[in-house]
Amino acid sequence: MKVFVVNCGSSSIKYQLINMDTEAVLAKGLIERIGMEGSVLKHTPEGKYTVDINIDVPNHSFGIKLAVDALTNPDYGVIKSMNEIDAVGHRVVHGGERFADSVLVTPDVLKGIAACAELAPLHNPPNLNGIKACMALMPNVPQVVVFDTAFHQTMPKEAYLYGLPYELYVKYGVRRYGFHGTSHKYVAQEAAKMMGGETKDYRIITCHLGNGSSVAAVKYGRSIDTSMGYTPLDGLVMGTRSGEIDPAIIPFLMEKENMNAEQIDDYLNRRSGVLGISGLSSDFRDLESAAARGDERSQVAIDIFAYRVKKYIGAYTAAMGGVDAIVFTAGLGENSSSMREKICAGLEYLGTGIDGQKNKVRGKNQEISTDEAKVKIFVIPTNEELVIAHDTVNICRRIIKL
Ligand code: ADP
Repeated sequence: MKVFVVNCGSSSIKYQLINMDTEAVLAKGLIERIGMEGSVLKHTPEGKYTVDINIDVPNHSFGIKLAVDALTNPDYGVIKSMNEIDAVGHRVVHGGERFADSVLVTPDVLKGIAACAELAPLHNPPNLNGIKACMALMPNVPQVVVFDTAFHQTMPKEAYLYGLPYELYVKYGVRRYGFHGTSHKYVAQEAAKMMGGETKDYRIITCHLGNGSSVAAVKYGRSIDTSMGYTPLDGLVMGTRSGEIDPAIIPFLMEKENMNAEQIDDYLNRRSGVLGISGLSSDFRDLESAAARGDERSQVAIDIFAYRVKKYIGAYTAAMGGVDAIVFTAGLGENSSSMREKICAGLEYLGTGIDGQKNKVRGKNQEISTDEAKVKIFVIPTNEELVIAHDTVNICRRIIKL
C-alpha cells in the first residue's frame, strides 16, 4: 500500500510517498514560498538527485497538484500514475478536545478541524486547504488526519488545567493541549522496543529539541504531561520563543514598551528564546561555535536551555514516580552530543549515566547510557511521516477494509 503523507504549513508543503509494505520512502519533497514570489519545489526521488522546479505556486491546491505531477513524472517520478496512491495521510496541528486519535476524513471531521482553527489560526487553515486539495484531486482516495495534539489528550485534569477561572476553560477551551504528539509517541515506542518491551511497560521522558522544543512524560504508554501548553509558546526556551515566563511581564511590556497584543505575540514568538538571549542566532550550531570563541551571551543561552530541560526531566520523574528512560530527538536532540551531556550532567542521582563514546552518535537509534545505568538514555531520530503513514494504513484497513 502506497501512502502519500502531506504536511501543509502556511507557505509550505512537505510530502513523502511511502511504500508501507516495506516502509521505504519512495520520494520526498518540499514546496516553499507558496503565495509569494520565487516559490520552488525540491523533489527528491529515493537514492537520486534532488530536482529543483522553480514555478509560481499561488496556493496549496496548485502545490498539491505539482507534487503529484512530480511523483508521476516520467523522468524523476516514482509511480506511473496517481492511481497508485492508495491513501493520503495529513498532519493537522490542532485537534482540540474533539480528536484524541487519528481519523478518516468525513464532512464532520472537516467541520471539526475548521472549528479548532480558533486554537491554531496559523496552522489549521493551511492544513485544511491541503486536505481539500487532495480530496479534489483524488476524490476516491481515502484521506486520514493525524493530529499533533492527539497523543496528549490522555493528560489528566491536574496537568492540563491552568490556575485560571474555570469558565475560561468551559467557554473558550483555554487549557494545556501540548504539541509534537506524533514525535513523542514515535520515539517513546522506539525506546520501548529498544528496551525489549512496549510503552505500557515503561515510564519514559521524551525530549523533542529542535527549533520548537517540548518535553513529555509518557507513563506506561500514555502522555500524562507535556511542556507546551495552550499554544506552542509555553514550556522550554526555544529558538525564538520565550517559553514559560511570569505572565505579569506582559502588562509590564505593554506599558513600558507601548506594545499592543500583536506586538507582544511577535516579541515572544519570534524575537525571544535563545535568539533574544544571545542577540546572535536561533540556531544552536551558531551558538555553540560563538560560545567556543568566548561569546558569553551565546554560552548563557545554551546554559539556560539545558537547565530548563533538566528541570523538566526532574519534574516529570516526580510526576511519574520514577523514570526508566530518557529520549532525545529532533534537530538539536539528535545531533548535539554536547547539549545532551549538559542536560544529563547532575542527573546521576536518578540512576543515569552517559557513555561519552556512545554519545558521539548522530542521526540513528542508539542507546547512549553506560552499561550500569538504571535509567536508559537514547538518541532516536524522529519520524513523524512514518507514524502518519502507519495510522493511515491502520484506519483504512479497519474502517474501509482497504
Ligand atoms: P524544527 O523544529 O523546525 O522541525 P529541527 O528539528 O529540524 O527543527 O531542528 C532544527 C534545529 O536543530 C536547528 O535550528 C539547530 O538549532 C539544531 N541543530 C541541528 N543540527 C545541529 C547540530 N549538528 N548541532 C547543534 N544543533 C543542531
